[in-house]
Amino acid sequence: MAGIWVFSEQRGGELKKVSFEVLSVGRNLADKAGQELAALLLGSGVEMLASEMAKYGADKVFLADSADLKDFLTESYTSVICDAVMANDPSVLLFSATTLGRGLAPRVAARLGTGLATDCTELDINDAGLLAIKRPIFAGKLLANAVFDNARPQIASVRPNVIPVQENPKAGEVVKLEVRIDPSRIRTKLREIKKGTSSRVDLSEARIIVSGGRGVKGPENFSILEDLAATLGSEATVGASRSAVDAGWRPHSDQVGQTGKTVTPDLYIACGISGAIQHLAGMSSSKYIVAINKDPDAPIFKKANYGIVGDLFKIVPLITEELKKSGKE
Ligand code: FAD
Repeated sequence: MAGIWVFSEQRGGELKKVSFEVLSVGRNLADKAGQELAALLLGSGVEMLASEMAKYGADKVFLADSADLKDFLTESYTSVICDAVMANDPSVLLFSATTLGRGLAPRVAARLGTGLATDCTELDINDAGLLAIKRPIFAGKLLANAVFDNARPQIASVRPNVIPVQENPKAGEVVKLEVRIDPSRIRTKLREIKKGTSSRVDLSEARIIVSGGRGVKGPENFSILEDLAATLGSEATVGASRSAVDAGWRPHSDQVGQTGKTVTPDLYIACGISGAIQHLAGMSSSKYIVAINKDPDAPIFKKANYGIVGDLFKIVPLITEELKKSGKE
């Protein structure tokens, strides 16, 4: 039984925005392939989310609801997803390229002995009925085109914030999966979840990111970036370069780049960040990039749509002040 499947990411009983993006792209693929779109939902007490998934195009929701799946553990989630795939034989399985998806998708692909295309920005079904994708490589300098061979399922992860969400109500028929997790395959134990202290929106979901690098010169100075983010509203947050994270000024969860998060906000304001290729790898797909740097030759200016050459300690508070004056939330 073929079908287009999407793994839906939820935390604490709430679907992440990216789940709707992956459902939307899955719906387009399902229509093109003439197949059903099924969402895969894992968790504990999450059945009520099925109707939301139906709203965004799920013909079916495969539900694995168990106390064993309350908190995300790669091993248990992998086990349940692989059992479901082997029993139902979907042609395509999509994940989101979030922190969770980046851990889960390769493990599922390896267990199923198939390939994986990561961080895709465009997905289509070609004339031969195979999944064809585009993904940025070399920090966004090139776009790679790839087509799957006949391996099943064809697994890909979708970069967050690039696919527009489309409502497309469908039946969302719930199919309950039997959850059988072999305890001998679970080698990790979840002891504690430490939540971030920031009250601001998560980096990968933010529409605006004010990011700071070594040029910010110390943890206390990030307050001027926090002020700007707060003035820009509830969809804005603060990010950091690896230098700022390595110096202990910001938590690793704030790091943007090759070894941090890939972000695609509408607006990325880089303050005191030089624009190393590893940093660009995480933010170069932002819609608009504004760079504030006192060095006119800083490589970030080559990527920026707007550049301000000058001292961030003068410029950032000025922007905040002007925004406050203009009454912009
Ligand atoms: P710098 O390169 O030191 O730049 C600081 C900038 O601040 C300079 O351009 C300077 O002109 C400017 N500045 C100084 N004072 C002011 C001021 N008062 N006003 C305005 N501007 C000022 N980096 C990442 O960011 N993310 C990653 O995920 C990442 N992964 C990596 C993975 C590997 C394998 C490797 C080798 C490196 C990785 N790096 C990553 C590190 C990366 O190569 C750079 O070292 C790092 O991005 C530099 O951070 P920065 O721009 O904050 O610092």
